[in-house]
Amino acid sequence: MIKLVNQLKDYFDPPQDGPVTYEYYVRTGKCNQCGKCCSGIYLIHGEEVISSVPQFEDLKKRHEDYRHFLPIEETEQGIKFRCKHLQEDKSCGIYDDRPMFCKKYPSETTLLMGGSLAPQCGFSFKAKYSFTEMLDKAAEKKKLNPGKLLNDVKPA
Ligand code: SF4
Ligand code: SF4
Repeated sequence: MIKLVNQLKDYFDPPQDGPVTYEYYVRTGKCNQCGKCCSGIYLIHGEEVISSVPQFEDLKKRHEDYRHFLPIEETEQGIKFRCKHLQEDKSCGIYDDRPMFCKKYPSETTLLMGGSLAPQCGFSFKAKYSFTEMLDKAAEKKKLNPGKLLNDVKPA
């Protein structure tokens, strides 16, 4: 029971340094406040990268978390954003009140959604299983609950 409570606590409010154990990966390292995850980033809604400004403007009306971001560039992969709270010195202007997805970042969800960490990021992930074991586990999860693998992964 204590283990479960600790796992839930790590999920919703992970420590800023020290290892965090997820389902498939273990995260180590700490934030060096490079700011690379707050600017020049793609945002994912559902399973898709936000790919147009009109789509983003529509999402902003329905989901207030998107209101933190400003579109800065259109690329072949989608729209790149920066957070309007990112300060000149790369710190977060609303650190104590930053959204939950910022408190949880980076989690293994980033990797499972096909994302990656910035090269400058102070965190790193180590897989708990071999590649074959990961495929087996993913297949098993899909078999038990078709379509759930991606649907239960929320954007980081
Ligand atoms: S709210 Fe803070 S931590 Fe979150 S993206 Fe913006 S600047 Fe970064
Ligand atoms: S990219 Fe990594 S090290 Fe840089 S601010 Fe984000 S979490 Fe911290």
